[in-house]
Amino acid sequence: MELPNKWYNILPDLPKPLAPPRDPEGAEEEFSRIELLLKVLPQKLIWQENTVERWVPIPDEVLEVYKEIGRPTPLMRARRLEKLLDTPARIYFKYEGATPTGSHKINTAVPQAYYAKEEGVEGLTTETGAGQWGTALALAGAMYDMPVKVFMVRSSYHQKPYRRVIMRLYGADVTPSPSEETEFGKKVLRENPDHPGSLGIAMSEAIEYALKRNWRYGVGSVMNFVLLHQSIIGLEAMKQMEEIGEDPDVLVACIGGGSNFGGLVFPFLGQELQKTKDPKKKRRRYVGVTPSEVPKFSKGKYEYDFADAAGLLPQLKMHTLGHEFTPPPIYAGGLRYHGVAPAISLLYEEGWIEIMEYEQKECFEAGRLFAKAEGIVPAPETNHAIKAVIDLALEAKRKNEEMVILFNFSGHGLLDLGNYQSVLGL
Ligand SMILES: *Cc1c(COP(=O)(O)O)cnc(C)c1O
Repeated sequence: MELPNKWYNILPDLPKPLAPPRDPEGAEEEFSRIELLLKVLPQKLIWQENTVERWVPIPDEVLEVYKEIGRPTPLMRARRLEKLLDTPARIYFKYEGATPTGSHKINTAVPQAYYAKEEGVEGLTTETGAGQWGTALALAGAMYDMPVKVFMVRSSYHQKPYRRVIMRLYGADVTPSPSEETEFGKKVLRENPDHPGSLGIAMSEAIEYALKRNWRYGVGSVMNFVLLHQSIIGLEAMKQMEEIGEDPDVLVACIGGGSNFGGLVFPFLGQELQKTKDPKKKRRRYVGVTPSEVPKFSKGKYEYDFADAAGLLPQLKMHTLGHEFTPPPIYAGGLRYHGVAPAISLLYEEGWIEIMEYEQKECFEAGRLFAKAEGIVPAPETNHAIKAVIDLALEAKRKNEEMVILFNFSGHGLLDLGNYQSVLGL
């Protein structure tokens, strides 16, 4: 199959214009977060963040790398799972675990590294918790011959040694955060030499490090341009489904910041939005899945909040539990984010998206069932989508109706076996 050569941007098709990012109100004496963001990102990404062009060309150099990392990723059918559930539903999934870093995050890491390189930037920094994002940026940097420095939350650095090893194999410099390498890190360590670190602290260190040199900062989710890059997933899936004469009735993905959900769903949802702005007339169902432990839709508010825990980045209008929300230590690290991408928030408000919530244990059980049926071990994040898919397939069985389900298999769980061991007692 030919790769799509343009990304899809949902902004021009939204039922209402998106509220823009902003600086906090009544904070005159402080710095401008908007200006800070302009300094730490490549210019091309700022343009992509704001553009209302529906189609954005993918540079040839990025298409080449997409091919090298195994795009298009396989569209697979979970026949054995269907059989096990004895359901009339047909279950398809887009297997993003097939990329070298094992998740969808490489789809945006590659263009971010490419644009930085093109603009003469000398290196990239970022923060990472569980490690999937840091791993993706480390590989993208290696592919464009750029140094990458990853500030890894100290507790994860010790708990997830294998992610740290992969990043180093790719040539990245991985530093446990808080560190002595930034003013911010030094300040935190002065107050508490044994600080376990947090995503907010690691992010502050990464941004400070980038600002002090001709480097830029990589963003793993939430922002419009990240969802734009991830649309490659849904565009490929749409072609692949067409080739086998299928059209999904229900699309499902888990939601952390929203990038794998937006990536799969937006090309399909946008197609409908171009025909009607009335959600009652939609043909398909669009289902996002969040952990019950991070109930940003059912218990969160739709309001302006900081994009990041440190309050360094601008405020976004989104469903949020508050940037100071401390999530319980669930293993699906990628789903612990306090908010969700503004475009997804708006579409939920407008009645285009449904949300399902599940607890950790039942998601790991769903992952066990999937692994046994299909042979592929899902990431703890992906298990949330799988749990919802199983419930939808059982609903189809009860109603005895045909249902074509397509879900995003956001990543494999081969580096998360310790989590399976803990939760399922294996
Ligand atoms: C990061 C991650 C997620 C959650 O992030 P989104 O931006 O919501 O997609 C989900 N699954 C995997 C495997 C991840 O690495």
